[in-house]
Amino acid sequence: MKTSEIHCKTALSPSKLRKYALNCYVGCQYACRYCYARFMAKFTNHDEEWGEFVDVKVNIADVLLRELARKRVGSVIISSVCDGWQPLESQYRLTRECLRLLIGYGYDVNILTKSAFVVRDLDILAGKKNVALGMTVTTLDEDLRRVIEPVSSPTARRFSSLQAAAERGVEVWLFVGPLLPFLTDTEENISRLMAEASKLPLSRIAVDRLNLRPRVWQSLKEMLSEHFPELVPRYEEVLFDLAGKERYVNELRQKVKSIAEAHGLSRITILF
Ligand code: SF4
Repeated sequence: MKTSEIHCKTALSPSKLRKYALNCYVGCQYACRYCYARFMAKFTNHDEEWGEFVDVKVNIADVLLRELARKRVGSVIISSVCDGWQPLESQYRLTRECLRLLIGYGYDVNILTKSAFVVRDLDILAGKKNVALGMTVTTLDEDLRRVIEPVSSPTARRFSSLQAAAERGVEVWLFVGPLLPFLTDTEENISRLMAEASKLPLSRIAVDRLNLRPRVWQSLKEMLSEHFPELVPRYEEVLFDLAGKERYVNELRQKVKSIAEAHGLSRITILF
């Protein structure tokens, strides 16, 4: 892992997800094999693979403070192309400092992470009405989780982080995805995740399938070839064959819907 300290010129960037996005790091130690943010690598000077470098924006809190004095208040997603609570955050505390500023200035803060380390900041988040904490989960099978998300927090700890946040008066929500064909899209896996979700006071649940952003298939194919070689042709059928893809997506949509209903989860948004 190559870590570099850099100085950024801007802190808040325009976002399709919210008015602004805040990313204190360029790159992500979590190195998820399906990561949609891999395309970011081409905007850096790095030759390393995604997940093997992180640039730390050491001055981002100062830059943010200047921006907050002149920008229009809006909603912010933390983070859109990295994880704000990746392991380096314990050393640099940049996301924490920016979070404190954003909340103080009255911004709506929407967090999406897969790090149980976010509980460190519950002292800042507790009871705030302008905050929602979202957690991404893909599987409760820890052997599989170590293959597809090698560095991230165990899924059970992610669920308990949401529980801890809810107990401190924080709005919590869940992002399930991406559902990987024949790995995490199984009835058993989705049912286990929904069963855990049903125990939490979630404001919403969003579910997404695998979307092939640039460089994602290359990464997934390497992972499949190493761990599940028999799945490569099956992936090609549901990702690249039009009829196969349509059939797969329709069946998956129905499967997710009926499993969620079976667990009494009505506040579910299927994003595909
Ligand atoms: S945590 Fe998010 S940004 Fe980081 S590697 Fe995984 S999917 Fe990508």
